[in-house]
Amino acid sequence: MKIILFGAPGSGKGTQADMLAKEFDLEKISLGDILRQEVKKESDLGREVKQYMDKGELVPDSTVKDVIDANLAEDNFILDGYPRNGQQAQTLNDILKKRDSSIDAFIYLDVSQETIVDRLSKRRVCKKCGANYHLNTMPPKEDNICDQCSAELVQRDDDTPEVIKKRWNVFLANSKEVFDFYKKKNVFISVDGDQDKEKVFEQVKEKLEAREQ
Ligand code: AMP
Repeated sequence: MKIILFGAPGSGKGTQADMLAKEFDLEKISLGDILRQEVKKESDLGREVKQYMDKGELVPDSTVKDVIDANLAEDNFILDGYPRNGQQAQTLNDILKKRDSSIDAFIYLDVSQETIVDRLSKRRVCKKCGANYHLNTMPPKEDNICDQCSAELVQRDDDTPEVIKKRWNVFLANSKEVFDFYKKKNVFISVDGDQDKEKVFEQVKEKLEAREQ
C-alpha cells in the first residue's frame, strides 16, 4: 500500500503516520523529519534548507525532489509532508510512474485553524529522538523529559506564532491544487481531524479498508 498523508501543519500528520505505519506495516517517510536531520547534521543540504524552514516557507521543489527520490521505498510506505503543492504532486507521480507504480490513497486530515494554533503552540518535541508531545492532551510523564529516551523536550523553532501563521498561509495557498490532483486520480479520502487521535485513526482505517473491498 502506498499512502500520502496530507494536512495543515499541526493537523496530526506525524502522529497518524506513526499509527498507520504500525497498523499496516508501512515505512513512514517524513520529509520534515529528513530535512530537520540534515539541519542538525549541518550538511550542505541542511544549510540550504534551514533558511526556508526558519521562515515557514517551502523549500524549493527542485531541492526536495531529489530527497524524495532517494528516500522513497518501492512499496508499502506512508508519505508525511510530501507532496505539498501541485508541482510536487506531479513530480511524485512521475517518479512513481518510472517505477510502474502509483499512489493508492491520499488522506486529508481536515482540521480547523483553532485546533492548529492550539496544537502547535503547545507542541513539544524531543531534542534527541523527535518524539512529539502536547502539553495538555499528550504530556510527558515528567515535565520536559522525553518518555522514550529521557532527553530534553523543546519547542520547534518554527512553532512560534509568527511562523505558524506563515505556514498556515502556505498551506492554504497550495492545498487546492493538491486536492484537485488526487481527486482526479480517484484516491482522495477526507477525515475530520479535529477529533482525538484514536477517533481519527479509526476513521482513516475504516475509509482505507472500505477502498480495498
Ligand atoms: P513539517 O515538519 O512537515 O511541518 O515541515 C517543516 C518544514 O520543512 C516546512 O515548513 C518546510 O520549510 C519544510 N518542508 C517540509 N516538507 C516540505 C515539502 N514537501 N516541500 C518543501 N518544503 C518542505
